[in-house]
Amino acid sequence: SDPILEVHDLKKYFYVSDGVLKAVDNVSFTIQPGETFGLVGESGCGKSTLGRTILRLYGTTEGQVLFNGENVHHLKGAKLKKLNRKMQMVFQDPYASLNPRMTVGDIIAEGIDIHGLYSGNQRRERIGELLHTVGLLEEHASRFPHEFSGGQRQRIGIARALAIEPEFIIADEPVSALDVSIQAQVINLFKRLQKEKGLTYLFISHDLALVRYISDRIGVMYLGALVEVAKADDLYRKPLHPYTEALLSAIPIPDPEVERKRERIILEGDVPSPINPPSGCRFFARCPKAMPKCKEDAPTLLTVEEGHSVACHLYK
Ligand code: SF4
Ligand code: MG
Repeated sequence: SDPILEVHDLKKYFYVSDGVLKAVDNVSFTIQPGETFGLVGESGCGKSTLGRTILRLYGTTEGQVLFNGENVHHLKGAKLKKLNRKMQMVFQDPYASLNPRMTVGDIIAEGIDIHGLYSGNQRRERIGELLHTVGLLEEHASRFPHEFSGGQRQRIGIARALAIEPEFIIADEPVSALDVSIQAQVINLFKRLQKEKGLTYLFISHDLALVRYISDRIGVMYLGALVEVAKADDLYRKPLHPYTEALLSAIPIPDPEVERKRERIILEGDVPSPINPPSGCRFFARCPKAMPKCKEDAPTLLTVEEGHSVACHLYK
């Protein structure tokens, strides 16, 4: 079937005092309906900026974002409003993203009110239904965010995103602020909701084990660029990019026998600044397999096996 989301050569540059910060640089990928696309990389690699750029939370961008075939940067008026209903975001910090002076019911109904979907009893019923859907109680509607735990607050954030029946949700590190014991519950809620409502997710996280658990396909980001895209299992079984290899080698394996024999790849140096990034491969300074040409020539993302693409001169 046709992709629900197509991103073509997307760029988001910020012009700062010492140059150009290339937060998102020529990123292209697609997501199929009902799929979870995991976006993984270290903090500062541009994952959140990419998510926000797709939702048009920043002004000017270059490149294209097509949602169900329509260019989201060209829509205006009623068409734009309709699109806004279909794409929602769940944020990392469930506390900072909930207005402390609003009741949980009013927070959840934000989108319902903006779009004028329900009022009176219907609105109240809908709020109750949404609370129930995310594992909370109807009577929670009259309470305030500070009365809830981190996990419950994230459930409120999810109910708010679901209120206007979106097709596509961008979840930006939705569990990284939560206790590990709570994370699995919230992740399983995402999974259940996807099944029940046929949702499509862009799931952003620095946690590779988590991304593997929830994703169908995964994109690995480094310094504003996608360096590898593959089906979740293929990426873990057979990582191609040296950066992906290094990231994966840092995840502990539960089996001590396997763990002992494993080689850790320690990356040298720091992540370079995304301001005025190097002109060749962005991973050059830290890559254990770097060759002379990598310094000059920036590799582009190429498909090397079915459904598996990589940006690296080792594969041509
Ligand atoms: Fe390493 Fe060169 Fe591949 Fe970049 S292109 S990841 S420097 S081998
Ligand atoms: Mg982030």
